[in-house]
Amino acid sequence: MRLSVAIPFYNEEAGVRELLERLRRVLDRLPGGPHEIVLVDDGSSDATFELLATAARDDPRIVAISLSRNFGHQAALAAALDHVSGDLVVVMDGDLQDPPEVIPSLIEQQAKGFDVVYVRRVARKERWPLRVCYFLFYRLISLLSDVRLPLDAGDFALLSRRVVDLLRQLPEHHRYLRGLRSWTGFCQVGIAIERPERFAGRSKYNALTLLGLAFDALFAFSMVPLRVAALIGLLTAGGSVLFALYSLYVRVFLGPRPQGFTALIVAITFLSGVQLLFLGLIGEYVGRVYEETKARPHYVVAEIVRGARQSS
Ligand code: UDP
Ligand code: MG
Repeated sequence: MRLSVAIPFYNEEAGVRELLERLRRVLDRLPGGPHEIVLVDDGSSDATFELLATAARDDPRIVAISLSRNFGHQAALAAALDHVSGDLVVVMDGDLQDPPEVIPSLIEQQAKGFDVVYVRRVARKERWPLRVCYFLFYRLISLLSDVRLPLDAGDFALLSRRVVDLLRQLPEHHRYLRGLRSWTGFCQVGIAIERPERFAGRSKYNALTLLGLAFDALFAFSMVPLRVAALIGLLTAGGSVLFALYSLYVRVFLGPRPQGFTALIVAITFLSGVQLLFLGLIGEYVGRVYEETKARPHYVVAEIVRGARQSS
């Protein structure tokens, strides 16, 4: 058994040494091998890539890849998965929020016949408003999605070779790896761990980019928003017919009466708002179709450093 560990980094210079040290210690104790560590630098502006490249030159197990600019966490993960060669692949973050010491338990589970062993994050250390958002997001997306998406599962997981090969074949942009991973099917199981705080630095996701990831998940795994438009259309049309019948009744049996101007304005503004909202939603799906047709590569590799060899 050969294990590959795939890790994306973006401005993580403060934690690289600690992570590699702990990871090497774990790999040293694993049976099989030679294992492999694929480190992807996602266009960092600090010394992250120099540290990764130095590590790669010193240790034949390590491959360091630098991307030509910052392509984002999910694209960097795709780059890492495209370069692994092991029979089993662990995907994890580079900030030590995914402790390498968990890897042996992942392998233990995998040996029971699972293709995917993912980690469920219980007892997060983030601040409570963010925890509430995560909690609601995972439940909402699993409710809306056609694929069964496990709750509170992040990207940290052990994947079998055939799952990795499948993931590599999926051409879609705006990747939401934890969703695509569920989509591949096979036998999947989760283990729960407490998610520690970052070793150093701050999360690269802010409210806006987190929302972006949430939208990637929503638009890639659900058509419910489009159906909601049809449903609301049906409801307002029904409401309008009822109101027309009521007006007719009033006109015939109670005589002419002045109609409410305010009600008219409220109805017009409310319904134009709803229309624009769903126009935007449809636009979002159309925009994503447009992005797919452009078929640009998900990332561009600038340099690969492995062992003593180097290639660009
Ligand atoms: N990351 C990346 N590219 C980015 C943003 C993040 O490669 O554009 C990496 C980052 O260095 C870390 C992992 O993705 O190793 C997860 O990011 P982060 O810890 O900021 O996310 P969080 O754990 O807060 O969800
Ligand atoms: Mg993190």
